[in-house]
Amino acid sequence: MSDAAPLSAVQMAAAVRAGERTAADLVDESLARIGRRDGEVHAFLHVAADEARAAAAEVDVMAAAGRDPGPLAGVPVALKDNLCTRGLPTTCASKILQGWRPPYDATVVERLRAAGAVVVGKTNLDEFAMGSSTENSGFGPTRHPRDPSRVPGGSSGGSAAAVAAGYVPVGLGSDTGGSVRQPAALCGTVGVKPTYGVVSRYGLVAFASSLDQIGPITTCVADAAVVLEVIGGHDPRDSTSLAGPPPRITEALGRGVDGLRVGVCRELVDGTAPDVAARVAEAAEALASSGASVEEVSVPEMRYGLSAYYLIAPAEASSNLARYDGARYGLRVDAEDVAGMNTATRTAGFGAEVKRRIMLGTYALSAGYYDAYYGKAQRVRTLLIDAFARAYARVDVLVGATAPTTAFPLGDRVDDPMAMYMSDVCTIPSNLAGHPAISVPFGEGDDGMPVGVQVLAPALHEERMFQVAAVVERAAHQRSGSPQGGRS
Ligand code: GLN
Repeated sequence: MSDAAPLSAVQMAAAVRAGERTAADLVDESLARIGRRDGEVHAFLHVAADEARAAAAEVDVMAAAGRDPGPLAGVPVALKDNLCTRGLPTTCASKILQGWRPPYDATVVERLRAAGAVVVGKTNLDEFAMGSSTENSGFGPTRHPRDPSRVPGGSSGGSAAAVAAGYVPVGLGSDTGGSVRQPAALCGTVGVKPTYGVVSRYGLVAFASSLDQIGPITTCVADAAVVLEVIGGHDPRDSTSLAGPPPRITEALGRGVDGLRVGVCRELVDGTAPDVAARVAEAAEALASSGASVEEVSVPEMRYGLSAYYLIAPAEASSNLARYDGARYGLRVDAEDVAGMNTATRTAGFGAEVKRRIMLGTYALSAGYYDAYYGKAQRVRTLLIDAFARAYARVDVLVGATAPTTAFPLGDRVDDPMAMYMSDVCTIPSNLAGHPAISVPFGEGDDGMPVGVQVLAPALHEERMFQVAAVVERAAHQRSGSPQGGRS
């Protein structure tokens, strides 16, 4: 079995479609890599080896019969464990869901399978996706594959680590306030949060429903584009899913940025670590030398994003998490009466951060405070959307940092919720606005750990966003001296 650098998803699918590789081989290699390293990294909560081998065999039968298994033929994928998978455990890294097996697949899982992808397992996360380091998992943290003393980011830290460790070329995560882009940045991978409504959330366990989106984590921009085309598009089973065809992105990748207007967003640079800010400046220079016009832009209302988010997200979470009552899913702790059983189950089943969010959210929604907290946060959200619109009257995309720092040591921020919350200060504005954003690896910090540069675009402008991201990626490869586009 070869131990060469793993192929990209596009390369793997091409090899399987051409009959040069089998899905069975690709899946075995993926499982072997997981077996060798995941005891230490702990990206996976559940590895579905038997199911993966069976699915790979089906892909191979199709290919051998001359039928096309699809654009992700034989590609091993890792799913964040808040995505429902029929018959496979889905825990949200919470003890309250331990043992629950959903009776259905999430739409994104169905679409991945229909495109030929093979699910190899379910990845670790901060419990119910609440956190930025994967340390809030009820089943132990994930470690950064490049430096196990550090966190991989979160909450989709398991999927980001699985891709960064070379187990799989594709992971899916969910991004409510940055949980795809921030771990992608910290792990040196690509991460995308699509426009709200582009990807169906049917089968995504809800955290904050007005913010949640599912997105890909990959080793390169081209793979992210293909995955988004596969999982995107209308789904009648999600009432927030947008009408219209799936996004068409791949054809935009080679277009370049000649004539595009790029705004370097001051609020996404100020306050970030000097080494991170330096990489953003270099990415902006690369865009300018590729023909874009680059100017500094300020969106001052972004400064209120974190405060608004930490009212809106907990408020929605407190409502969404009411369903874990001991009667319907997973854990039940028995007591004298039903109310006692509810309390005992929730006390035993939820971790500290989830309890903190439920209390914050319940308070923000309580009759006397609703308007002062939840209502006001929603008004701030509107101001932010207006401010983005003014910025996009001047520029086509915004660029900035994805996260204020590189990957931090395990334990560093666990006792300081505010410090942890600050990890998402650069990603939250896009969730509040419903806009798409992508994180692209761009060099390293002074500590040798990866830095991500973020490209933001107006709603439904994924194509333009990917066009710019592809140029940023090419510049990152040139900067590090690795072959240009060597991954796709
Ligand atoms: N870190 C943020 C939070 O804890 C965002 C999480 C997410 O996007 N799921 O809420």
